[in-house]
Amino acid sequence: MIYFVGAGPGAADLITVRGKTLLEQADLIIYAGSLVNPELLHYAKKTCTIMDSAHMTLEEVIQAMEEAQQQDCLIVRLHTGDPSIYGAIREQMDILSRDGMAYEVVPGVSSFCAAAAAVKAEYTLPAVSQSVIITRMEGRTPVPDKQKIADYAAHHATMVIFLSAGLVEALQEELLRGGYEGTTPAAIVYKASWPQEQVFRCTVATLAATAAQHQVTKTALLLVGDFLGTSYDRSLLYHPGFTHGYRQADPGQKKYNDTMHGPHKEEGR
Ligand code: SAH
Repeated sequence: MIYFVGAGPGAADLITVRGKTLLEQADLIIYAGSLVNPELLHYAKKTCTIMDSAHMTLEEVIQAMEEAQQQDCLIVRLHTGDPSIYGAIREQMDILSRDGMAYEVVPGVSSFCAAAAAVKAEYTLPAVSQSVIITRMEGRTPVPDKQKIADYAAHHATMVIFLSAGLVEALQEELLRGGYEGTTPAAIVYKASWPQEQVFRCTVATLAATAAQHQVTKTALLLVGDFLGTSYDRSLLYHPGFTHGYRQADPGQKKYNDTMHGPHKEEGR
């Protein structure tokens, strides 16, 4: 059996229990060496063969899997974060399906979740944003029409921008062109959950300067939106004036949301 396993965002103890158990049992691990924390490989048994896919083509990865499969090996294809986000797993799964080879996917903690934890933020705040846009700048991989940064910026939803730390100047321009105010809060999260993790808070207008100042050019997420600001409405779910399936409202309480104000987070965390 072949398992596509999400390695988590970096910290070796942020893999799932299921993912760790599979690493312990694997006869072959093919891991994405550019981003997966090599510490995770310590979970492998001594006899396990370990290959770094950073040096391999899709064809070579498939060949290695197929050869191991013929010897009844347990194979783990270890992808950073969650494999469904920029993981290039679809093309592998389609070839394996075509060749009649069995596989399963084990989800992982994506780096966008670790980035929210690093800035201690909630992406979906009542009255601020109820949507999270996961996207990237166009680089050598093209981005389809109507899915450019400026198109999404117009929504003023929470944005998590992957694979773009080397393109921050153009990103900043696109965000402004799409309609974000320069004063909209933003953050650069470098290596979320790794020992080297760093958070740089800024605004849309200072994104490029902040990245340049701290020499961030890769392994970072760019977070943009008013979810990083200070005001939002408290949740209805825990409001004393709100009835739901598990709780009756207190009749003395007004029903509607109250605006909450958090501390300014421009400095530090
Ligand atoms: N499947 C992965 C994403 C792979 S794409 C996931 O779910 O997280 C690689 C990009 O993800 C990097 O260029 C960077 O933008 C982001 N990334 C991956 N790990 C990261 C981390 N620990 N901290 C910040 N960004 C990270």
